[in-house]
Amino acid sequence: MKIKVLGAGGGEVTGSAYLVETDNARVLVDCGIFQGSKKVEAMNRFDLKDVSGLDAVLITHAHLDHTGRLPLLSKMRVPSPVFCTQATLELTALILRDSAHIQEQETMHLNRKRQRAGIKPLQPMVSHDDTEDIIKRFIALPYDRDLPVARGIKASFAEAGHMLGSTCIQLSIEEKGQVKKVVFSGDLGPKGAPILKDFEELHLADAVFMETTYGDREHKPLDETISEFISIVRTAAENKGKILIPTFAVGRAQLMISILASMFRVKHVPPFPIFLDSPMAIDASKIYMSHKELYDEELLEFIREKPMMEDLKTLKICPTAEDSIAINNVPGPMMVLAGAGMCNAGRILHHLKYNLWKPETHVVIVGYQGSGTLGRKLVDGAKQVRIFGDDIAVKATIHTLGGFSAHAGQKDLLDWFSHLAPARPKLVLIHGENGPRTIIGAKIKELYGIEANYPELNEEIIF
Ligand SMILES: [Zn+2]
Repeated sequence: MKIKVLGAGGGEVTGSAYLVETDNARVLVDCGIFQGSKKVEAMNRFDLKDVSGLDAVLITHAHLDHTGRLPLLSKMRVPSPVFCTQATLELTALILRDSAHIQEQETMHLNRKRQRAGIKPLQPMVSHDDTEDIIKRFIALPYDRDLPVARGIKASFAEAGHMLGSTCIQLSIEEKGQVKKVVFSGDLGPKGAPILKDFEELHLADAVFMETTYGDREHKPLDETISEFISIVRTAAENKGKILIPTFAVGRAQLMISILASMFRVKHVPPFPIFLDSPMAIDASKIYMSHKELYDEELLEFIREKPMMEDLKTLKICPTAEDSIAINNVPGPMMVLAGAGMCNAGRILHHLKYNLWKPETHVVIVGYQGSGTLGRKLVDGAKQVRIFGDDIAVKATIHTLGGFSAHAGQKDLLDWFSHLAPARPKLVLIHGENGPRTIIGAKIKELYGIEANYPELNEEIIF
């Protein structure tokens, strides 16, 4: 058996894709997009020899860096089924459709410029049709069942605690009369995060492919971050301020809403209007609400006591642009949750344009802000920013909360591996920059005497 690293290797954090090849079958685990610089994004392709004759694709979770190249398989006429959990199926369909729409819009915009310059038009990487075609081939599998996915290969999906539907995938691979187990961690969540159950402990593996995104550091404790958030919201609401939260539509938006619901229930602050101003976050929230079987015990207890919507009577959803514009006339205290999470596009830009120059506005940054984004400029203390061609003074208070990560820090990564270490697996560290992955690799060697492998992109690991 061999496993080829087709993404998230060689110090890359994005583009997760691992090709498992036996004498009898070829299976791809994850099919993610590379994100970042133009050079990195140019790697968003597959060689036909790697994906032709694929028997199955298995998806750990819905994030684009684990699913974004799926429509390419349709484009390349690779007709394999795609297995994942039901929640991942629903969230991936939402995320892929949104991504195809953005790609088509961006290409159209570029092509208008190219046409004016007399240059040949570009095609988007994937089309709406490629996306719909691959979504039709999704098959949902339950958690924790060893089910056949290709000749001689069974897969079991275990909770990863990273986002709704997220999993670690454990493959049982039969070859030459022997069964070997290979575990792919996917992305692991931090223990104790609201809404989701913690990652499941796995014990059996001949080989482990483990993510190392935060292999070198700890996050600030989540309960401290939540307390900080509560105190910011309380002060802002008491001063009748407008609170703007740029947020990612899937995961982060639902986390913020669940924290607000519990704030209202325990009367940390009287309920005030909250606007969920993102069609995608509204759709993702519906998916989150329809999968109560994936909630942790704390949230189940909370909703058994009283339905969450009773705490959220002041939550208003804003599917249309008109709904969004109407928010401008609502006085504080109020809160707007809108995308994009890094303030580089989306409806949050309109709210920032109308409110950043007012001292009574609070902007709460709850996610990572990439360099060069408007969000990063605000975090770095810019006194003036440019939005839709206008210079806007920053008079609002900008709060940055760094502790809301959906990723396990070093301690939780080591905890996850500690249950597998007694099986003495071959350890392959992936999905991390070279700094973090070598730091956690050294830590694992010190603790268990297991020497890690650090594969490059396109490297083949033979078992
Ligand atoms: Zn992820």
